[in-house]
Amino acid sequence: MSKIIEGMESFFGRGAFESKIFADNTCCFIGAFGNVGVVKTDEGLILYDIALRLFGPRVFQEVRKFSDKPIKYIIYSHGHFDHCLGYAPFMEEIKQKDWETPQVIAHENCIRRFEKYRMLNKHQIWTYKQQFASVGVTMSSTESISGALDPTIIIQGNDTYKFNLGGYEFEIYHDKGETDDSIWMYFPEKKVLFTGDLMVSSYPNIGSPFRVQRYAKDWALAMDKMMGKNAEYLLPGHGPLFEGKKNVQDVLSITADALHFVHDEVVKRLNEGKWFEQIYHEMLAIYPDKFKNHPFLQPRYGDYRFAINDVYRLYHGWYNTGNPTNLFPAKSDEIARELLKIGGAKDYINRAKILYDDGKFQLALHVVDVVINGSTVTSERLIDAYKLKVRILKQKAEEEESFIAKNILKTGVSQLKAKTKELKKKRD
Ligand SMILES: [Zn+2]
Repeated sequence: MSKIIEGMESFFGRGAFESKIFADNTCCFIGAFGNVGVVKTDEGLILYDIALRLFGPRVFQEVRKFSDKPIKYIIYSHGHFDHCLGYAPFMEEIKQKDWETPQVIAHENCIRRFEKYRMLNKHQIWTYKQQFASVGVTMSSTESISGALDPTIIIQGNDTYKFNLGGYEFEIYHDKGETDDSIWMYFPEKKVLFTGDLMVSSYPNIGSPFRVQRYAKDWALAMDKMMGKNAEYLLPGHGPLFEGKKNVQDVLSITADALHFVHDEVVKRLNEGKWFEQIYHEMLAIYPDKFKNHPFLQPRYGDYRFAINDVYRLYHGWYNTGNPTNLFPAKSDEIARELLKIGGAKDYINRAKILYDDGKFQLALHVVDVVINGSTVTSERLIDAYKLKVRILKQKAEEEESFIAKNILKTGVSQLKAKTKELKKKRD
């Protein structure tokens, strides 16, 4: 098993590929990263998502354990690499058996997403290396979107798309949420919802630090819309299958509440004429325990703190401090050098150590950064500063629950360690 799979599985705490047949033997849940939903009809199969490229062969095996019928439709819940790249073994089979190529359904914004990924391929990989640092996703092992099957049925705007297969009707809806290209599917006959990443069984992935804008309010409204279906099953983008009307309604309603909450409270504070820092810290103070402690809202990947940022930036520009000093700021190393003229590097390091010992890790980081950014200090001092920062970041990473936050902190640690090594080499 690759390091990526092991890392993902160990972090997200699930056994690999636990498949489950449900809804009178018409559907199969394949737990992958992200999950795959299979619907079986007399005329063939529907695949709702096809997981990571890396997981393709195992997803293929699981699908074939469930049914040997040809695949008629592949649906991209959205265009993220963990949902639409595991197609290779299926295409191989289609070629071998001389079957018709399946229809691929996606939203029009998914096409734009693929174009954007092609344009920003190297940048994407650079961000993956940081966001997925702990599981070693790099260019060779991960998936740039290139080679994804091109959609053949493209959902425009907010259109609803309905199609029939094997005597069943399927409904596809578009709603913005984690992405602007999400489509979710409902199978009315068996009351099954296929949500993609509109449901990830933990705090919604909104405001991810490396990623573009997400849509809290639209997302909450999508959950409300799904609740209107009174489904018996919900197959999420990540996490286990939800079974039973009550469980489905519960997870939808608590997720909707959390999204309405973060959206409405940030909006309220924007209308009170507050700047980001005040909004952010007030929002931390008012975060209700019912969300904080809820098993479906744990910050495994997404995080409430990220969500505050996301709602703010949806409605406000980049000038977010209200302090004109920050309008055209000087370089941080120039600022630090000036501060070091006032107080010596040693004083800053000592102060940072005191803060660290007091458990004020974040403040300690800001103080030690003056020495690091100032960089005119002796290599001995700089090594001291690096070492202290490594200690603080490690401690913070240890305490963090969010996979993304953890990885950003850990990336900082490895970069500082490399710099320390380099400095020591120069010094010796
Ligand atoms: Zn996903």
